[in-house]
Amino acid sequence: MTVTIGVIGGGQLARMMIPPAIHLGLNISVLAEVEGSSAARAADAVGDYRDPETVYAFAETVDVVTFDHEHVPNEILLELERRGKQVHPRPGALQYAQDKILMREKLAALGVPIPAWIATSNPDELSSFIAEHGGSAVVKTARGGYDGKGVRVVDTAAEVNDWFDGLAEGERLLVEEKVNFVRELSQLVARRPSGEMRSWPVVETVQKDGVCAEVIAPAPVANATTLATAAQIGHTVAEGVSVTGVLAVEMFETTDGRVLVNELAMRPHNSGHVTIEGSVTSQFEQHLRAVADLPLGSPAMTAPVAVMVNVLGGPPEGTMSLRYPEVLSQYPNAKVHSYDKTPRPGRKVGHVTVTGDSLPEVRGEANACAAAFL
Ligand code: ADP
Repeated sequence: MTVTIGVIGGGQLARMMIPPAIHLGLNISVLAEVEGSSAARAADAVGDYRDPETVYAFAETVDVVTFDHEHVPNEILLELERRGKQVHPRPGALQYAQDKILMREKLAALGVPIPAWIATSNPDELSSFIAEHGGSAVVKTARGGYDGKGVRVVDTAAEVNDWFDGLAEGERLLVEEKVNFVRELSQLVARRPSGEMRSWPVVETVQKDGVCAEVIAPAPVANATTLATAAQIGHTVAEGVSVTGVLAVEMFETTDGRVLVNELAMRPHNSGHVTIEGSVTSQFEQHLRAVADLPLGSPAMTAPVAVMVNVLGGPPEGTMSLRYPEVLSQYPNAKVHSYDKTPRPGRKVGHVTVTGDSLPEVRGEANACAAAFL
């Protein structure tokens, strides 16, 4: 019997799971938030993922439940498991990607290197932390942040007064030292319920205004031990939280040569889009294999270098395809992905990947092609 994988969330991550599902002959069914979502081609249901009955009804129609995002309330997922449904990643793992304070506590317990941090609801504690850590700190809301929303770099506690005022009883903010880094890295790992794990080569991610703009594979790291450390951290975290599916571990390579974990994501991740053309097995195919508990594919690279650049915002006149006649003829080596999303300033509407031998050439071509859509 063909397995049906149910994806909650109709964004571009769900959309990019559709081609490998077709290639493998797996059924894929999406619960989208709205009509006309990025994953509309596979959206058999439209509804609110926060409504228990909507999620239970969708889950009845599929064999395995997985996600395009991390926002489905944990109680709903625990109930699905009680009803005997396969959910991957399992709610016990997913909680660490849903709540940044729980994540920091878990990483600390696993002995994984992380920035200095506290969780607090008290502005005086934040002021003391700032004084002890060079006059600044990074403050984060524990839940609901993405693409840099919910992250502020501050020199005084007063700069997050609005966040302190808005905290519910028992809620806290995450406060971290401001890390001096040479680059940001992302280690992707896939893990099956039966425990098999595969890691892709670590990549460098370049952010603009808190949003991922470019990904370079493999990361041009300063030294080989950084690569080994990143891979080791990826394994430790994947096993330590018992993740199932794809896990992205976002890290800082610090100016003094350390590797510190910043963030976890438990789903295919923007830093892994480069694997569609850049690796034997893409993160989207690997996620489907992992959640269906099928043998994992090789994550080896298909070329010495691969670079992915996000198309952020444009083109102002409408979808990316309006520019295809000129752009596709000018950049025949570029692989162009459109998410079928209406352009809005800063919105991720697509991406471009180029593979090849020379980093400067590949990087130049990927950036020029993505820019031609703006
Ligand atoms: P989000 O969940 O919105 O992606 P992150 O925690 O990943 O938020 O932070 C977004 C970006 O902010 C990071 O990619 C990094 O560039 C910067 N950042 C986050 N935490 C720190 C820190 N402790 N020190 C320095 N920069 C940070």
